Amino acid sequence: CKQMAPVLQGLKQDFAGRLEVEFIDVWKNPAAADKYRIRVIPTQIFFSADGKELFRHEGFFSREDILAKWRDLGVNLGGDAQTFQRWTAAKADTRSPADICYMCDGDIAPNQRVTVKTPKGDVHLCSMHHYFVMISCLTADVESTEANAAIADWANGAMIPVQSAVYLYGFEENTGRPTIKAFATRQAALAERSVAGGSLLDYATLRNKELAARCGFCDRAVYPEDAAVVIAGGVHTWGCCSHCAMGVAARTGLDIEVHERDRLTGEPIIVRTLQGSVVSVEPPTAVAWYGQRTKPDGTRVSAGCFHQGFFTTPEHLRQWVEAHPLETGEMITIQKALAHKMALSPQQIQKACKIGECAPK
Ligand SMILES: [Zn+2]
Ligand SMILES: [Zn+2]
Repeated sequence: CKQMAPVLQGLKQDFAGRLEVEFIDVWKNPAAADKYRIRVIPTQIFFSADGKELFRHEGFFSREDILAKWRDLGVNLGGDAQTFQRWTAAKADTRSPADICYMCDGDIAPNQRVTVKTPKGDVHLCSMHHYFVMISCLTADVESTEANAAIADWANGAMIPVQSAVYLYGFEENTGRPTIKAFATRQAALAERSVAGGSLLDYATLRNKELAARCGFCDRAVYPEDAAVVIAGGVHTWGCCSHCAMGVAARTGLDIEVHERDRLTGEPIIVRTLQGSVVSVEPPTAVAWYGQRTKPDGTRVSAGCFHQGFFTTPEHLRQWVEAHPLETGEMITIQKALAHKMALSPQQIQKACKIGECAPK
């Protein structure tokens, strides 16, 4: 089985001297199929040190499931070297809270800033897109949030109410991702359009465009250019992050196919599920980063959709984490990313990624 070969190769390397891994191709060696009574490809058989069969499994069996099975069988193989985690940021975050985006924790450029006044203080966002991502996950106060939001005039940084700004809407040259510039007057927007091109939109039209594509798990607004493609029961939807993409299987109860990209290199990663389990990962070496934050009481919580991702190899994950010194969390298997979502109740799925009331962190 093509899928199992790299899993077994990895175990053979990482547990050398502790685990004997033998790979038998029954097409080339049919006698072995009889000897081990193989009915299905692939089959994994677990033997004790004295050669007694302890357990057998038919079908794809992930690295994590194999290691968990050995633990269940009472066999201690020692630590798994293929892990990576960081629980303390590699550098201090010295930015002013007013310069950190409420949604993505990214920097806020002065001519892109969106600020929402709330009774609990101001909420700052890096872009109209992340403002609409926030709008799409509010469970209350949507109208008052919109009425109290202002965006920087792209020309001079002066704050304008979002509902009265004139928007110049265009596309990034290479990605096709929308670009949005806000202006206080139609005249100023037209002046920029004569240089940069694009279309003039009012707030209502921009709102409809921004809220049209949604995450199939948490219902957040997404740009398809940023999102994972999810095919569930033949229907195409999006995952706003790689973990949400897996969550579509939990929300719909359907088998899904996820097309995601390595966050470091952009290389494709394809995951298929069957009845709530991962049945194939391409490439099979792919792993997930589970971004988490440690709360003052020491417990850990998800760092949110902007801090998750899939990688084609553990090495890519490590490089990406090292290039992002503020990220904290751990490497997990893609099966585990799915299992986290499958464990949620329908009520928890309903509440996933939602913001109950608009307030600063
Ligand atoms: Zn942001
Ligand atoms: Zn989502």
